[in-house]
Amino acid sequence: MLKNDCFSLPPGVDWTPVPEALETLRQRIEPVAEAETVSLDSALGRILAADAIAKRSTPPHDNAAVDGYAVAHAALLPEGDQVLKLLDGRAAAGVPFIGKVQAGNAVRTLTGAVMPEGTDSVVMQEDVELGNSTITFGSGLKAGANRRKAGEDILTGDIAINKGRTLKAADLAQAASVGLAELPVYRPLRVAIFSTGDELCEPTEIPKSGEIYDANRPMLSGLARAQGFTVVDMGCVTDRPEAVRAALIDASTMADAIVTSGGASGGDEDHIARELTALGAMTEWRIAMKPGRPIAMGQLDGVPVFGLPGNPVAAFVCFLIFARPALLRLAGGDWPELPRFPVKITGPAKKRSGRTEYLRGRYIGDGKVEKFRSEGSGLISGLRWSDGLIELSHNRDRVETGETVDYIPYSSFGL
Ligand code: AMP
Ligand code: MG
Repeated sequence: MLKNDCFSLPPGVDWTPVPEALETLRQRIEPVAEAETVSLDSALGRILAADAIAKRSTPPHDNAAVDGYAVAHAALLPEGDQVLKLLDGRAAAGVPFIGKVQAGNAVRTLTGAVMPEGTDSVVMQEDVELGNSTITFGSGLKAGANRRKAGEDILTGDIAINKGRTLKAADLAQAASVGLAELPVYRPLRVAIFSTGDELCEPTEIPKSGEIYDANRPMLSGLARAQGFTVVDMGCVTDRPEAVRAALIDASTMADAIVTSGGASGGDEDHIARELTALGAMTEWRIAMKPGRPIAMGQLDGVPVFGLPGNPVAAFVCFLIFARPALLRLAGGDWPELPRFPVKITGPAKKRSGRTEYLRGRYIGDGKVEKFRSEGSGLISGLRWSDGLIELSHNRDRVETGETVDYIPYSSFGL
């Protein structure tokens, strides 16, 4: 359970810089989802709930890295042609050579085979001239050549995968390689999502005059699902205080976290903020960022609420920058640090010092990124056009063509 004052920001601070707001979230949020054990098959995309300990080293034994002939290095001459007796039999992957190899002898050995007893190096078959029960090759073979050492990947008892990691295909391979058939993972975080606004209708409906289609819900659902969360779709809610309050309370009984869009700031019809306040659960986060406006954060019966702005671009950016890391921590994941790539911007950008600004950007190769033609925060086409966010840091002002800016590709968000 999170602490009551989990989302409180330092008093007296007017607009909190983005890095500080993120650090506050990073320090205060803890996992809320319970753990369960699932087969590797079901573990993809889930968050590991405890360190996965290797049951066996990988590789479990020294083995050949190439097809060739296993030899004892100590018995080789320092220079000149090496002529060794070729023993009968062979070592293949899964079918070891039986017997001990005396110094000066060689055994046919294939990739993946356990190194025959008495050998420590493998001569590649391409370097060998095969005679009548002998092999000949030049000098210069290094001790331990073409041999994979037991445990060179992971040793028995070592941590194979750290807790908090979102499991990818490579993690499943690692788990299998050390003998783990199942893994403890957190159950997926349930995120309730609803949109607010009297102007909203569904794309299945015929809009009345003044209505627009709800674009945020499918977008936020998609973003949440892409993080591995289970979405509880709570629909659209009108700007009536009772409706918003009922939706918030309902959502708090059905989910681990609530994400809303619209009505988050202090306007006449901004009921998320007002109802959270009335329920005693509100913290207004005045974060110095654009797009953004205040984000309404709160906790209803211990369930965190992220009240995002209604403008689709602002909702998208605020979800990725604030809600996503917080939700991932709630889900049991590590705090996701974002890689920021320095790139050159292909045009100038207006910027006000004293806030972090995010532009929709597109990487055009050669270390350069282009910004979307407009900063209009309703332009969903710009979200589609872009393949990442350009981040202009807090203290910066106007940016000129060719200046270096930070770029965060959407792939960094798992999108
Ligand atoms: P608000 O934050 O409620 O003041 O909304 C800001 C702007 O975003 C207004 O133009 C709203 O009509 C628009 N908006 C709010 N919610 C949505 C939504 N779910 N889909 C599309 N636009 C929205
Ligand atoms: Mg509204």
